[in-house]
Amino acid sequence: MESVRDVRKLPKAHLHLHFTGSMRPGTLLELADKYGVHLPEALRGGRPPRLRATDERGWFRFQRLYDIARSCLRSPEDIRRLVREAAEEDVRDGSRWLEIQVDPTSYAPRLGGLIPALEIILDAVETASRETGLGMRVLVAANRVKHPLDARTLARLAVRYVDRGVVGFGLSNDERRGFARDFDRAFAIARRGGLLSAPHGGELAGPASVADCLDDLRASRVGHGVRAAEDPRLLRRLADEQVTCEVCPASNVALGVYDKHEDVPLRTLFEAGVPMALGADDPLLFGSRLAAQYEIARRYHGFTDAELTELARQSVRGSSAPEGVRKEILADIDAWLASPAEPAGPTAPADSVEPAEPTRR
Ligand SMILES: [Zn+2]
Repeated sequence: MESVRDVRKLPKAHLHLHFTGSMRPGTLLELADKYGVHLPEALRGGRPPRLRATDERGWFRFQRLYDIARSCLRSPEDIRRLVREAAEEDVRDGSRWLEIQVDPTSYAPRLGGLIPALEIILDAVETASRETGLGMRVLVAANRVKHPLDARTLARLAVRYVDRGVVGFGLSNDERRGFARDFDRAFAIARRGGLLSAPHGGELAGPASVADCLDDLRASRVGHGVRAAEDPRLLRRLADEQVTCEVCPASNVALGVYDKHEDVPLRTLFEAGVPMALGADDPLLFGSRLAAQYEIARRYHGFTDAELTELARQSVRGSSAPEGVRKEILADIDAWLASPAEPAGPTAPADSVEPAEPTRR
């Protein structure tokens, strides 16, 4: 029988997880029931939807499903539950540090405004972190489909909460819309306030969008960034500057950025020395969580356990975890590799590589 180490036990940091997208499928069903929200078939169980986000209609469909799921989060209690469960799922997957990404604007109308929304979220994160032992922080993300002035407002708000758990500023939604440079002032505010710059790029758009994140937004991390693989010079630059790419392999296949797991250029980035932090992006819609991303690296890209530990180290180094926490996690990563491999049994998370059937809890 094949012997493997359980990737769920490999300590790691999770740097790319969206707020609503982190929800358990069973929780969505319960909340929809509670509020009388009619869920489309794609969100009601069965297999996660097959989306083609590489065309605008597919992306629109993805956003619509996301919006419906978000509309089921209406009270502070719902927010606390979501964060608590996201933390529990991460802990199960060996995460030791989670940076969750949220645009509080989307939750503001139901939670009494932008400031109360962010405070409820930060309180929930602090509580969940204390109760589960998982280190947790928040990235505030602006929406690139909205006006750059909105992004500036958000950046100022994010900076005000730098001592309450906000560590970074992001930019999400369709990379094909607008230009990164439209948001340069928002990112300048965030950076001056001590936040790390972590915009999305190189997912739906090609390598030029990653270069824009570096040049215009001084990104120290890039959300996805995976399509940098198409440009060797850009790969060298990412490696030289040690910019961490938050690569989300299951998401890439679910959204049709690549046709199949083997096509995601994990190896190309790894061999080029580009630091990566594997992430789940939106497990609610893509059907797999953090450990499954490492399992994908092992199964489809031939990563050895030693290479998997290097990926885990890169995720920790790319995080905002304080030095003491980093050291502890890095030591535990070494310990995982030093531990004997176990016979592959039913507890190995191999099954979770494929989109899981959403479970009703
Ligand atoms: Zn994302």
